[in-house]
Amino acid sequence: MSTETQTETWNDRFGASLMRSLTPPKIMLERGQGCRVWDVDGNEYLDFLAGIAVNSLGHAHPALVEAISDQAAKLVHVSNYFATPPQLELAERLKRISGAGDAGRVYFGNSGAEANEAAFKLARLNRGADGRKTRILALQQAFHGRTMGALALTGKPALQEDFLPMIPGVEHIETSIEALERSIDDTVAALILEPIKGEAGVVDLPEGFLQAARTLTETHGALLILDEIQTGIGRTGAWFAFQNTGVTPDAITVAKGIAGGFPIGALVTFGAASDLFSAGQHGSTFGGNPLGTRVANAVLAEIERAGLVENAVVKGERIRAGITALGSDLVEEVRGSGLLVGVGLRLPVAAAVSAAALDRGLIINAPNESSLRIAPPLIVSDDEIDEFLAILAQSMAAVAGADQETTA
Ligand SMILES: *Cc1c(COP(=O)(O)O)cnc(C)c1O
Repeated sequence: MSTETQTETWNDRFGASLMRSLTPPKIMLERGQGCRVWDVDGNEYLDFLAGIAVNSLGHAHPALVEAISDQAAKLVHVSNYFATPPQLELAERLKRISGAGDAGRVYFGNSGAEANEAAFKLARLNRGADGRKTRILALQQAFHGRTMGALALTGKPALQEDFLPMIPGVEHIETSIEALERSIDDTVAALILEPIKGEAGVVDLPEGFLQAARTLTETHGALLILDEIQTGIGRTGAWFAFQNTGVTPDAITVAKGIAGGFPIGALVTFGAASDLFSAGQHGSTFGGNPLGTRVANAVLAEIERAGLVENAVVKGERIRAGITALGSDLVEEVRGSGLLVGVGLRLPVAAAVSAAALDRGLIINAPNESSLRIAPPLIVSDDEIDEFLAILAQSMAAVAGADQETTA
């Protein structure tokens, strides 16, 4: 009784005060530890979404807690009129782990969308000698964020409709080498794409697409910009997904997992693209603040120390093999790479499976009606994966059973 009253109370308060742009959540969380979180009623959940590929080290990791506490007592914010040691360290670290090296440069913002806004402006600066390069190519079904520039890049008309007109110059093409060949010419400033389309349901690019994109953009003097916001920071079994492909981009955008939940985003440029921005052309009050950059340094150092990029490969394999071994009729295919896993379902019941899992103490999500997304913290253990597989099996069986009852 008291529990019910409490639940109604927070639901009511949410409904009364939060902007309607958010879908009301089903549970209210209070604390976390490792790969687990607890709601306000004390119920425990296994977290296989990690705040949408954000909590790289899980919850309440000592390295994260120490970095936040120590830096908060030193310096939280100073504006970009001043440099700080963690800011320089993070820029140098990102150049190293991305392979951008000495010729690379880093811009810091506070979110994924802001990283992509910076990438959009980078594309605008790549005008060509005669100023003809005004087109930006992006992919249908792509997701690049919710601010107006990032939304213009996003290939989902349903998300754009209410906010027209979009910023001009962006064209969304089919994800095929043929479509890219047809669309690209010397008037294209940039091609931006996700190495794996996360919000579309963890959808891999077609074989050879990224290699063809590199060749074609190079031929036509267009930048190849990779949105690694969801795929980066070890998630796909390399620091960045492009490193699994042999392709070198002109720029990448990074956010989500970089500081384990602390909001920070970055644009990293490679080679000649590093010379496009000049003084005064872009900035952000909070961007690159000492707290965010210190936390990111701590998270990246811990990922390196604990071998979590390699762990993503091994644990990703266990998840993939485990899902296949369940032998569920519901599962059509398993997609993605490392610990970014998409499960394609044969029926449009992903939301029901995700809800059934939540009822059984497991957090996963359904980016669309026939896809499940699984993205646990990079510290996930074999035991936690086995527990996840058992709950997933029960949840799919419950939904498949219910579906059979309704069709019978
Ligand atoms: C989440 C995401 C974004 C947007 O990041 P925000 O921090 O929500 O602004 C952009 N691109 C991709 C691929 C993402 O997954």
